[in-house]
Amino acid sequence: IDTEVVVLGAGPAGLVLANLLGAAGIGCVVLERQSRRWVENRSRAGFLAPDAVAVLRTHGLAAGLDSRGHDHDVCEFRGVDGGFELCYGKRGSGRPHTVHPQQELVTDLIAEFLRGGGAVHFETTAEFIGDLDTERPWVMARTADGRVRRVTGRYLAGCDGGRGVSAAAVPARTAVRDHGITWLALLVQAPPSSPNVLYGVHPDGFAGQMPRTPDITRYYLQCDPSDTVEDWDDARVWAALRRRLHADRHGPLVEGPIVERGLVRLRSEIRDRLRHGRLLLAGDAATAISPSAAKGANLAILGAELLAHALSDALRGGDLSGLGQYCADYTPMIERAQEFSHWMIDLLHPPAADDPHADYHRVLRRARLRDLVVSRAHQDFFSDNYVGL
Ligand code: FAD
Repeated sequence: IDTEVVVLGAGPAGLVLANLLGAAGIGCVVLERQSRRWVENRSRAGFLAPDAVAVLRTHGLAAGLDSRGHDHDVCEFRGVDGGFELCYGKRGSGRPHTVHPQQELVTDLIAEFLRGGGAVHFETTAEFIGDLDTERPWVMARTADGRVRRVTGRYLAGCDGGRGVSAAAVPARTAVRDHGITWLALLVQAPPSSPNVLYGVHPDGFAGQMPRTPDITRYYLQCDPSDTVEDWDDARVWAALRRRLHADRHGPLVEGPIVERGLVRLRSEIRDRLRHGRLLLAGDAATAISPSAAKGANLAILGAELLAHALSDALRGGDLSGLGQYCADYTPMIERAQEFSHWMIDLLHPPAADDPHADYHRVLRRARLRDLVVSRAHQDFFSDNYVGL
């Protein structure tokens, strides 16, 4: 296969990029390791920031989001000393999230790309990439039936997540932070217990509730890093959620069958280079970010738009300066999102058992929560960062 841009990965980053390139008349193919069914059912993100929604609307990719998504603008903190609601849609820049499950967005983006004549090669794993310093870089990809295909382009877009081949092919100094925290991520077949996002701030560990659709709700429970999902049967999950979300004080949780459970290790990686020759990284391939502030899919969408502009300029206008500008524009966005995600991690989690300064950190966390209750400036800071990038 010979094309202009080879896009590795059919997640939000790769699919937004492919749609934008297709609309600009630039030839591209998408290589995706998994089956179409797998990517269209992989539930992860749900909260889309207004800037990401604007990208999708501007490029005619928001039909599903506009018909099935809904605005959300209140989060509620529940601690041992009481709870409070923060209407972030009325603070700071005054903007809401749009709730639209990632798998539905991915399904919409695939349909739109195929409708425009684009090609996604599912069950095709990129194994090696090369000649990145030449005008014809290539990908060697293996299909499900074991055949090896060479796909050549003028540029490669690395949108294959943090564990794909692209990130590994860009030599970079990477600042890594393993936060030492693991979440049990649950999908429950039941309406949300509250229309608000709930953050349970509890000495036992964090618990959260994120509305998704009228019948599906996401819950998170901080667990011991050595736990397996088998350690958490339904009874233990619901008892912990009730306790940490203070159901005795705020009302019962709406319980239902737990249809998915997985472990998420909170880990962050910030690289000092997003490009090597004609390979450029976007989304999780560019930065691993913890889900604590719901930034990953949003960074993926915004990065894809920046990259689409840079590649269009390079391929159509012969202007290569946009490729360097892409990295210069994307990096501060990544760093801001990382800083706020880390701020949220400190806010939501009790100090680790072996933290020699645990008492001190508990006091800081109490002060930070109190600021959010009483200080307009802190509410504005939170709101701008919560929805912004
Ligand atoms: P991905 O979605 O990971 O897509 C990469 C694709 O590349 C995958 O389909 C993969 O199969 C494919 N691939 C990998 N290797 C290869 C290969 N060698 N060859 C071909 N294909 C390959 N973010 C938010 O903004 N808001 C949220 O509310 C939110 N909630 C989250 C909840 C959870 C539980 C988790 C785990 C994450 C959450 N995130 C959230 C983060 C968000 O889901 C990710 O940041 C987002 O999926 C990144 O998109 P991407 O396209 O860069 O990568």
